[in-house]
Amino acid sequence: MQPIAAPLLQWFQANKRLLPFRQEPSAYHIWVSEIMLQQTRVAAAIPYYNRFIAALPTPADLAVCEPDALRKLWQGLGYYNRVNNMQKAARIVCEQYGGDLPADYDALRSLPGIGDYTAGAIASIAFGIPAPAVDGNVLRVCARVLDDATPIDSAAHKAALTAALSACYPAGRCGDFTQALMELGAMVCVPNGAPKCESCPLQELCLANAHGTWEKYPVKEAKKAKREEEKTVFYLTCDGCLAVRKRESKGLLAGLWELPNVEGKLDAAQALLFAEKAGCEPSELLKSVERVHVFTHIIWRMRCYYIVCKEKSPEFVWASDARRKTDVALPTAFRMFVEEEI
Ligand code: SF4
Repeated sequence: MQPIAAPLLQWFQANKRLLPFRQEPSAYHIWVSEIMLQQTRVAAAIPYYNRFIAALPTPADLAVCEPDALRKLWQGLGYYNRVNNMQKAARIVCEQYGGDLPADYDALRSLPGIGDYTAGAIASIAFGIPAPAVDGNVLRVCARVLDDATPIDSAAHKAALTAALSACYPAGRCGDFTQALMELGAMVCVPNGAPKCESCPLQELCLANAHGTWEKYPVKEAKKAKREEEKTVFYLTCDGCLAVRKRESKGLLAGLWELPNVEGKLDAAQALLFAEKAGCEPSELLKSVERVHVFTHIIWRMRCYYIVCKEKSPEFVWASDARRKTDVALPTAFRMFVEEEI
């Protein structure tokens, strides 16, 4: 891999995009942007990033942010456990490192929610440490350059590639090298469709280009099937307020707001009985809809009943429109029912 460094850096210097987190690449800025970029594309992440940094400009601000305000800033990105972990890590940074992320790969790696990739990105870009940030993009680019059919999801392969890349890091340009690899994967050796080999700085070195085999890569191990769960969700309204509640503090969507729901698919009579038993005095069942939400390992197949109620049962929190806009952030799996036309 050694010969890729020079042409890659030269190309990056001339072609890099001007992104907000590259303007002032502090460790905190890199951290926030990389966590967001694990969930969405660059263009989609930029407004979230700008809003997050304006509201919480330092790890100290993140450490003390109210949980609901934090979730509101993250709403739309999904994977709320990531921002919860960021807050835990920010608290440790304030308690143990004086409010600045540590300039040390292992110390970064030990913080909640910071894995090999994010630690490598922060260490190399913010602190100039030769620590690779190996994600799907980098694995794909390297598989093509090396014409290597090893499944990219093998941990041993990732470790070997990380070691090989570490040896390529050019002194004084570690951050640029990390970003150049990321940028090449995003802009030239793209994941969907044909790579732009004719404008790639590695075309002379790339074995997949020489052999015309880019389409074979990356090779992945066969995926396990996702677990499927059926649920009945309740959209209960009373005097313009919507019934919500908090999820358990552990597990999927931990600690987030949700619409009331039960396992399995109930029929209309059973749904009304649920509302009755919960003390809501249902007066009208407006409609039901079927929706599917796909998580990383689980699929929820949901049926939602829209029921008008006469009583605000103390079993739920009854959120007004105003409150829902400020501090009740529903995850996408439930928000889709709120966005439905009634
Ligand atoms: Fe990817 Fe083509 Fe460049 Fe090889 S030459 S790294 S296949 S874009």
